Amino acid sequence: MTTWIQDVIDAVYVIAVLVFILGLRAMSSPTTARRGIVYAGCAMLIAVVVTFFSPSLSNFLLIFIGVAIGGLGGWYWARVVKMTAMPQMVAMFNGMGGGSAAAIAAVELLSNLSNYATSGLSVAGGIIGSISIAGSIIAFLKLQGWMTSKPVVLPARQIVNTAVLIVGVAFGGYALIVLNTLWLLPFYILLLLYGILLTLPIGGADMPVVISLFNALTGIAVGLDGFALVNGPLGDAGYAMVIAGVLVGSAGSLLTFLMAKAMNRSVSNVFFSAFGATEETGAAIKGQLKPIDAADVAAMMAYANQVIIVPGYGMAVAQAQQKVKELADLLETKGVTVKFAIHPVAGRMPGHMNVLLAEAGISYDKLFDRDEINAEFPATDLAFVIGANDVVNPAAHRQGSPLYGMPILDVEQAKNVIVNKRGQGKGFAGIENDLFYRDNCHMLYGDAQAAVGQLVSELKKL
Ligand code: NDP
Repeated sequence: MTTWIQDVIDAVYVIAVLVFILGLRAMSSPTTARRGIVYAGCAMLIAVVVTFFSPSLSNFLLIFIGVAIGGLGGWYWARVVKMTAMPQMVAMFNGMGGGSAAAIAAVELLSNLSNYATSGLSVAGGIIGSISIAGSIIAFLKLQGWMTSKPVVLPARQIVNTAVLIVGVAFGGYALIVLNTLWLLPFYILLLLYGILLTLPIGGADMPVVISLFNALTGIAVGLDGFALVNGPLGDAGYAMVIAGVLVGSAGSLLTFLMAKAMNRSVSNVFFSAFGATEETGAAIKGQLKPIDAADVAAMMAYANQVIIVPGYGMAVAQAQQKVKELADLLETKGVTVKFAIHPVAGRMPGHMNVLLAEAGISYDKLFDRDEINAEFPATDLAFVIGANDVVNPAAHRQGSPLYGMPILDVEQAKNVIVNKRGQGKGFAGIENDLFYRDNCHMLYGDAQAAVGQLVSELKKL
């Protein structure tokens, strides 16, 4: 029976949902994104706190222990994580969401298997949540470098994977038919196995899309669990979960499709093609690497009309963004137009470069995405690539290359290209980059922070 307390709780859930939506809205622009995160955090806090007032809630001690472990762990890891390790943390946190959804579904199934419609939703939540947590763990291991980031291609994988999925789902269905919870054990084991098998053949370079899709799946699983809970004693919390799940599911799906589009690939191609498993053959690189020193680069920059800076993962590792800002300011005082070309998957997470450059105080109107800036390279005197590799690899234009079809920043079309990196290291996809050997390209070797710092000192002398 609905009491006035439940009415108040319902009203607070609606407020929490509105704050969630406002937060999501604010996250769509870099200028308001920080505020969006705060809104979303507050909405989550409101929803969690108000749930404690639900008359049907018991087991407070157990819940507090769970909240304390999760809250302290999340707080600690978010504080100590390096910016460069953010993608694997996001993968892990997403996975936790999927695992929670799978666990909620398991509790619902174990305690309430008789209700056929509700149990169907829980089985669906269990399927998606299990795939999401197992896949996210593999994504974490690959990004952390604790297992190979190359595609792991097992024999007859398509047939084996499909069989594991079908048999796993069949166990869940059978548990509903015979109403016996024993069948849930092989159901969960096979779905977790499917999550692992699905992610193993995906190369590290595709991980952003994978993480984003698992995030969307987690949202969908939470939404399905919410539907299942609606009929139970914690029905109001179920509605909140449905709304939060739908928001995460739809936002995550949109992001997944946008990222796949940025790589000119379909989502199914990312998941099922074992992209990057085969090395390009027969494409011998002509030319040689031509080192250059900071004094010469400074002179070239000072006399350029326009310089386009292309940051990548190396700038993030070196934390060179402050030096890059100093460089850009200095060039502008010398009358050089400075623009930044941002590739959607530069670095190790979507928006990685935007966040770092914003942190350094570089204004957003100087940042241009691929579609906006590519046409400008042929008329640009100097493209300065700082710790980027895959996102400027012209191999993407060559049929037969594993990168073929991936949209890149066409820096090789600039009159001069200077690439800063430490040595002969390959990019994340592990593919040689023939840009570095082109006639118009010179290599400024060294750690990005030191190299850009040197450039700044040399420019000050001019
Ligand atoms: P890459 O990873 O392709 O290349 C980075 C380059 O930086 C390397 O060649 C390395 O060469 C150099 N480097 C490393 N440390 C330093 C340093 N301290 N100073 C100077 N240079 C350094 O980076 P990109 O940004 O071009 O491409 C991103 C790649 O990561 C893509 O393949 C993308 O798909 C993938 N990815 C992207 C994610 C995202 O969401 N953005 C998430 C996960 C993967 P050297 O060792 O010689 O210095």
